[in-house]
Amino acid sequence: MGKIIAIANQKGGVGKTTTAVNLSAYLGAIRKKVLLCDMDPQGNATSGFGIDKNKMEHCIYDALINDMPLAVLIQKTATKNVSIVPAGQDLSGAEIELVEELEREKKLKKQLDLVKDDYDYTIIDCPPAVGLLSLNALNAADSLLITLQCEFYALEGLGKVTGTYQLVKQHMNPNLTLEGIVLTMYDSRTRLSLEVEEEVRTHFKEKVFKTVIPRNIRLSEAPGFGQSILEYDPKSKGALAYQALAKEVIRRNG
Ligand code: ATP
Ligand code: MG
Repeated sequence: MGKIIAIANQKGGVGKTTTAVNLSAYLGAIRKKVLLCDMDPQGNATSGFGIDKNKMEHCIYDALINDMPLAVLIQKTATKNVSIVPAGQDLSGAEIELVEELEREKKLKKQLDLVKDDYDYTIIDCPPAVGLLSLNALNAADSLLITLQCEFYALEGLGKVTGTYQLVKQHMNPNLTLEGIVLTMYDSRTRLSLEVEEEVRTHFKEKVFKTVIPRNIRLSEAPGFGQSILEYDPKSKGALAYQALAKEVIRRNG
């Protein structure tokens, strides 16, 4: 049975896409079959895998609005075992167009249910907002993975995501679980990182991944080359961290 993990946090720039791309790449490297589903109109996961989002004829928008089968939209990436459903600019319109649709928050689920068992893991990269695109992702998902940047307002933001998680679980997707919280852009030289880590681990205990993603310039350079860190610099600290995270995800899922 394939597992669907949505990577979400309504806060922008907290490492969702970096985690979606590089976790996918390392799950693939450990011989898991991965489908990365880009649900963000920014299309950063799409371009992160070297796909030109301005030159696409079709993208996930067509699955959500025109009922085009996902199977038609799935593309192989240059990374072993990783396929992607890309997002293009059209997707920004979907947020509004979905409002008119029947069962508007279940569109993605209906589509993913047809392909999920072809993959060991489906990773959904969510936009930084709690709109219909994110709700579709959380409805389709088996679990939620939260990325948390170690900064001053991190905990306030975390309260908001866990609030959304509870609401979705209560009203839409009772089977949704919390996959875990990943600390990103961690800098062990700063007190703030250490304090955020301590507080999050105290509250969320084993839900916080042991693996912490350090702040690493190579991770921020890789998307500019359309590559995951596995291709761009597999010896970097960032690469080793995402490799460890992939192993931890697999271990947790037995
Ligand atoms: P958005 O909410 O806009 O979708 P996001 O949560 O997906 O953002 P990313 O795009 O992954 O966040 O990261 C934000 C920025 O920080 C990017 O420029 C990215 O390259 C950089 N970044 C992410 N993780 C790291 C890291 N561990 N070290 C250094 N830079 C990082
Ligand atoms: Mg993103």
